[in-house]
Amino acid sequence: MLFKNVSARFEIENSNSIDVILEHNGYEMVKKLQEFTPEQIIQEVEKSGLRGKGGGGALAGAKWRLLEKAKGKKYIVINADESEPGTFKDRSIIEKDPHLLIEGIILTAYALNSNDAFIYIRGEYQEQAKILQKAIDEAYEKGFLGDETIHKYNIHLTLHRGAGAYICGEKSALLESLEGKRGHPRLKPHTPSPEYFFNNPTLVNNVETIATIPSIIKNGSSFYKNLGVEPSCGSMLFGVSGHVNKPGIYECEFGVSMLDYINTLGGGVKGESIKAVITGGVSTGVIPFEIVKDIKLTYEDLRKAGSSLGTGGMIVMNESTCMVKALKNILSFYHDESCGQCTPCREGTFWVDATLDKFLDGSATLEDIEILKSNSKIMNGKTVCVFAPSVSTVIDSFLKYFQDEFIAKIKVDV
Ligand code: SF4
Repeated sequence: MLFKNVSARFEIENSNSIDVILEHNGYEMVKKLQEFTPEQIIQEVEKSGLRGKGGGGALAGAKWRLLEKAKGKKYIVINADESEPGTFKDRSIIEKDPHLLIEGIILTAYALNSNDAFIYIRGEYQEQAKILQKAIDEAYEKGFLGDETIHKYNIHLTLHRGAGAYICGEKSALLESLEGKRGHPRLKPHTPSPEYFFNNPTLVNNVETIATIPSIIKNGSSFYKNLGVEPSCGSMLFGVSGHVNKPGIYECEFGVSMLDYINTLGGGVKGESIKAVITGGVSTGVIPFEIVKDIKLTYEDLRKAGSSLGTGGMIVMNESTCMVKALKNILSFYHDESCGQCTPCREGTFWVDATLDKFLDGSATLEDIEILKSNSKIMNGKTVCVFAPSVSTVIDSFLKYFQDEFIAKIKVDV
């Protein structure tokens, strides 16, 4: 069931150099661009069942179709603001195979009739930004980007560095930031609609999603669709970190057992046993071993377990992990990163963070468990973006499976 696809060129020495990658079929589909109509490329992506790999898992083809139908000047924006704790797959693509991403961007821009694309990269990725800029410069020099390209389609690509705010990974906040404004998420329309950059219809897709496009066009949609288990078609760069012997990024088809993945690719748990796993970046919450052992890595299986696949970045925790400290660590991060626009999120993350301190310094009472639950409820469904509901998911999952550890921290006077 394990399979290498997007990461096939990770093993090549100096794989981020254009001269090296051109010897390994680099830009193969871009060189053949004029053999495809834009509509053919869109249809291949639709038929492949490709889903966005940045966390949401929406069908990429449906999102592309919204932009295809929109009128006026169009933009492509690549979300490389990879800030979700436990997630480092886009970083690997940028470091090891930036030209695969650029090739995907060119194919996407051509399919959607856009001549301008941006990559928005998180501020902390300084080295990765240098690698990417070098790759972009090389692609211009070789005539894959620019006005007079070898494939006869004009496409310009600009790298933009963020300033290190987690919320700028949310696509509308990212666009606000790219427009030079404060990175606050926008209110969402009630019907499916493209994003807008300076009032122009815009596609925002994650790095890994776009890096998958060359392989789909080269091998055909049925090749991709036949991987995995429908409706979770294809493969993904799953990551594993925490208490494992071989933390890293490994690509596999959807449908692999989570436990097999951890035990084989991840080298097994460090310590005696797995206590719990954060399933796909911290915002997906935690599940205990009793559930982990039966989970397959698909969108559907994880949803049924009350969690989600998210970014595919698993964090393994062994038997020595204090779940109160783990939740405190996550909530301190959320408290810092709330953009402050909505009162339930701004105040809720503060109160939960402060309440968790009481469990750690021995001053918590049973009422504080209720305060955690009540804050979680207040944050859920009443805010501009999904940040606060995700915080609720995390709090609820820790209390659902590990409430006894929180109670054990409460001192009872006798
Ligand atoms: Fe900002 Fe939080 Fe509101 Fe999202 S939910 S817009 S992060 S305050």
